[in-house]
Amino acid sequence: MALYLSDDQAMLKDTVAPFLAENAPVKHLRTLRDGKDAAGLSRDLWKQFAELGFTGILVPEADGGLGLGHVEAGIVLEEIGRNLTPSPFLTTAVAAVDALKAGGADLRAQWFPRILAGDAIIALAIDEGAKHRPASTAMAAERSGNGFKLSGKKQFVLNGHIADMLLVSARTGGSAGEEAGITLFAVPRTAVGISVDVDRLVDSSLSARVTFDGVQVDADAVVGEIDAGWGPLTRLLDAGRLGASAEMLGVGGGAMDMTFGYLKQRKQFGRLIGEFQSLQHRAAHLYGEMEGARSIVIKAQHLLDDGDPRAELFVAAAKAKTGKSCNLAVREGVQMHGGIGMTDEYDIGLYMKRDRALNEFFGDSYFHADRVARMNGY
Ligand SMILES: Cc1cc2nc3c(=O)[nH]c(=O)nc-3n(C[C@H](O)[C@H](O)[C@H](O)COP(=O)(O)OP(=O)(O)OC[C@H]3O[C@@H](n4cnc5c(N)ncnc54)[C@H](O)[C@@H]3O)c2cc1C
Repeated sequence: MALYLSDDQAMLKDTVAPFLAENAPVKHLRTLRDGKDAAGLSRDLWKQFAELGFTGILVPEADGGLGLGHVEAGIVLEEIGRNLTPSPFLTTAVAAVDALKAGGADLRAQWFPRILAGDAIIALAIDEGAKHRPASTAMAAERSGNGFKLSGKKQFVLNGHIADMLLVSARTGGSAGEEAGITLFAVPRTAVGISVDVDRLVDSSLSARVTFDGVQVDADAVVGEIDAGWGPLTRLLDAGRLGASAEMLGVGGGAMDMTFGYLKQRKQFGRLIGEFQSLQHRAAHLYGEMEGARSIVIKAQHLLDDGDPRAELFVAAAKAKTGKSCNLAVREGVQMHGGIGMTDEYDIGLYMKRDRALNEFFGDSYFHADRVARMNGY
């Protein structure tokens, strides 16, 4: 298994990297943030993603997409991370697309063309508490008419205030804490009974607290099987977790490169500070940690693309490892930038904020280290 990019994948990177560096560098995030943009992201940019084919990377060829894999999606996500680009790519074109592959023909026909065209944004309504715990789902889905009635609350629904559709985990059986009895639903955000409160997170992204007050959906809103939503939910989460890991490679890598650049140009005591061995040792340690993270992410991407049964274990290991490495990169970045690292004018602090949010998204390092331990029989 090659732990590097193929020629085709390198070509994709050569398209994505300059496109995002030109059209959505960190300044783009600052403009949206400082203008208190109500959407929190640019729909024009999302359209451009579609025109370049990025939104169809994981959509099967039979559904009009490119039928590529998580390595390719990860290339886009790493550049999104490097530029701190606000985008619905991770939730819509990665996590939701992988979940919709398990959906019925109607759901696929309804959503894949709109995702391919850059017209649809899909948000994930999974978490109910302060921390990511998908099995703790308590939200009720009671049988009603030809479908179900949803009642409950979700939070940390990224882009939930502007999404066209919400993928919602709810309980048709069992009780909170159990994997069995969860069903996954595709619910239009404008459905009667949905109300949304918007929160601005530490990284300036916008996230919603969504209340479902007896929201009626048809039976064909079910993604996968009733009571057995843990399957498609796990696929959705694996795609999202690995995607967030790839994005963290970009966030950590971007912070690291910026820091190394600073060490090579900041003079103190008549010398470049990068000439001091104490900082060189810290830089070398950081570089090694980021390379370790990169290796495990690409390994997990290949396993997920190959449908290998070890994929879930490696995805958890990748999220745990990138969480630690990216956090080290942003902390060392702020430290080594000295006083200016504390200021808003310098980008390094924005990387630290994005790291904080991405680490929590889809489960933090502790959550995933715990899963790795359990999957290994501890
Ligand atoms: C609002 C604010 C409040 C602060 N309050 C305090 C405070 O209460 N107490 C306090 O101690 N500091 C405080 N600082 C930090 C302090 O002012 C400087 O930021 C810090 O001393 C780094 O100096 P510098 O900014 O010139 O960074 P630079 O000289 O550019 O150094 C960059 C990095 O290299 C490191 N470095 C430089 N030379 C060496 C060397 N020879 N060996 C190893 N590492 C080296 C620095 O520590 C830093 O991590 C504060 C900063 C801010 C912005």
